[in-house]
Amino acid sequence: MNKMIIKVPFVDLKLQHQYIQTQLQQAIEAVLEKGDFILGQALSDFETAFAAASGTKYGVGVASGTDAIALGLQACNIGIGDEVILPANTFVATLIGVLRAGAKPILVDCDPQTALIDLEAAAKVITPNTKAIIPVHLYGQMVSSRQLLDFADTYKLLIFEDAAQAHLATRDGYCAGSVGIAAAFSFYPSKNLGAFGDGGMLLTPDPDVAQKMVRLRNYGASQKYFHTESGTNSRLDTLQAAVLYQKLPYLPQWNSDRLKIAQQYDLELAPLATAGIIPIDNQSDTGHVYHLYVIKVDETCVLERQELQEQLTAAGIQTGIHYPIPCHLQPAFTYLGYQVGDFPQAEKLAKQILSLPMYPGLSSSQVKEVVAAIARVVSMDSHSQIPSPAAIIQR
Ligand SMILES: *Cc1c(COP(=O)(O)O)cnc(C)c1O
Repeated sequence: MNKMIIKVPFVDLKLQHQYIQTQLQQAIEAVLEKGDFILGQALSDFETAFAAASGTKYGVGVASGTDAIALGLQACNIGIGDEVILPANTFVATLIGVLRAGAKPILVDCDPQTALIDLEAAAKVITPNTKAIIPVHLYGQMVSSRQLLDFADTYKLLIFEDAAQAHLATRDGYCAGSVGIAAAFSFYPSKNLGAFGDGGMLLTPDPDVAQKMVRLRNYGASQKYFHTESGTNSRLDTLQAAVLYQKLPYLPQWNSDRLKIAQQYDLELAPLATAGIIPIDNQSDTGHVYHLYVIKVDETCVLERQELQEQLTAAGIQTGIHYPIPCHLQPAFTYLGYQVGDFPQAEKLAKQILSLPMYPGLSSSQVKEVVAAIARVVSMDSHSQIPSPAAIIQR
């Protein structure tokens, strides 16, 4: 690839860290001073603070969001012989977590407007073995808590939230992580609340689940050198917890920055609806925390998603695709027996979605620049861009 100038990056993590750099350095130095690198004071401080901020009781820090799902399901006694419903259009870690817990994943399709799990589809796959449903609060928007709780009540299921993209999101009066028996979070650096490396947490209102999780992340030990189950080594580093503890108070502001940016995108992209540029629907008002701002490039657009993405790259605008291949079509999981056509909405979205630059500190003029670039490329009445012959042949 030839060297290109990046005018609008997809994310920029330096901005938020610059702002609180001294604070972060002091917190890191305090851990160095104390030397409690594993299961130290800063970890329990952060666990308590994050659980409280999310409106629930217990937090158990682990090494990643993936571990929070895999071990968290085990902590909820979900495993061998149990079926767990999850959306096909999620990051693959949701599925990996279910498989690692030993449960049987049952994938379902999504709502094409919101990209969130389709609960009507979920109702059709219930069996006597269905134990839980994993709503993935995708892109920062919660699955409706009211609908979820009704659903779980009707079918007597556990709700295990994948809230890896939804720190402090709200909907129907609930905060992400406070709806179900437990919820998994990730602190991967680019998440809304990100560490300086990998990290994750399980939140739960249930003391038994919390205690089992505390054992599972620490070799299954109920006390030192006394092992009541076969656990693993998966702890959130004290250093990472110290960083996250410092960042947590800024999260509401960062989330509202994201919301403001999204509202500007919504407004400025609205005229492009007739050109086939349709933002993923926000049905949760100001509770959406916009981990990602995602548009669909639909059938009516003069360009396909890939061509739009290439033209934006050429214009110095970085974008992403979350995610290009739904879980059921990933080569690793063909053994689950799913096929092309099983989840038409998820498959269609995978071909049409494009994530635009989104991070706290993205300026209003940068948003304008992104929208203007899209408009230039997709507007039928603008003859500044003619699709390449290759692109025309492809279609
Ligand atoms: C990031 C993410 C995960 C996994 O978290 P890691 O910390 O990367 O292991 C799981 N589910 C979703 C929806 C995610 O976005």
